[in-house]
Amino acid sequence: MIDNPASPIVDAESPQGYFHGKQLFSKLECCAFERECYERQKQLERLAEELARSNGELELFASMASHDLQEPLCTITTYLQLIERTKANSLDQDSRGYLKFTLDASKRLRDLIDDLLTYSRVGVKSSNFVTFKANVAVEEALTSLAGAIAESDARIEVEELPEICADSHRMVQLFENLISNAIKYHSGSVPLIRIGAERQADRWVFHVADNGIGIEKHFQERVFEMFRRLHGNEIPGTGIGLGICKKIVEQRGGKIGIESEPGKGSKFHFSVPDEFPC
Ligand code: ADP
Repeated sequence: MIDNPASPIVDAESPQGYFHGKQLFSKLECCAFERECYERQKQLERLAEELARSNGELELFASMASHDLQEPLCTITTYLQLIERTKANSLDQDSRGYLKFTLDASKRLRDLIDDLLTYSRVGVKSSNFVTFKANVAVEEALTSLAGAIAESDARIEVEELPEICADSHRMVQLFENLISNAIKYHSGSVPLIRIGAERQADRWVFHVADNGIGIEKHFQERVFEMFRRLHGNEIPGTGIGLGICKKIVEQRGGKIGIESEPGKGSKFHFSVPDEFPC
């Protein structure tokens, strides 16, 4: 229920009228005003219900579509790989090139489907809340990224992090996305990534900071939009990762943001408020 912010104040001196601000309303006008407020509130509640229903349907659709697309794509990729393994030598140079383009495209499509599926899944509110030390989630994310870390020689410094109450699987996913971006969008020098947390009034604010290429001010809000990519296809990606991060943080009642300077690096921060009881 939304409190009626404009409820009239009775003027003791003037029983036939009501004050609202500096204006004097008649009883009749007040009744009409209250009725209008009530009707608008009901209309808002109906719209909110409708929006929640339509969001739920969209998420279900994305989840089913991604799931059903995975199977034929898997068959296509398997047979292309089979051709590559067994017939590549008998193909001319052009055909080998076409085969490579097709395999690269099927890999991009698989990444896109996986990310869409993840995005639609994190739309569903989690009920898997547990209390755990955030370092455990970071360690798990680093284990999944071991290959990329070794390949890039990235140096990762992790502070002592607090205990939080959250969906641990989603927290791993969140750190994994932020750390893998910090590696991916490096500036050419060895990636240096710092992960920490600081206490603010009623919340923990975590950060993942890098020394990468950075993001210009006017793009800093927009990178959380779906499919928003600032860099071309030379750096692989689907443009969904930060959208997933935003959803995970907001589902937990927090906010995500960036401080960044092009050429110097980026610091992604997200909050985990206390008010969510485990
Ligand atoms: P992608 O799959 O393209 O990495 P994301 O949603 O994770 O998608 O990120 C959106 C865009 O934000 C990226 O394409 C990139 O341009 C920019 N970006 C994300 N993280 C960083 C970072 N740490 N440093 C610089 N740019 C970044």
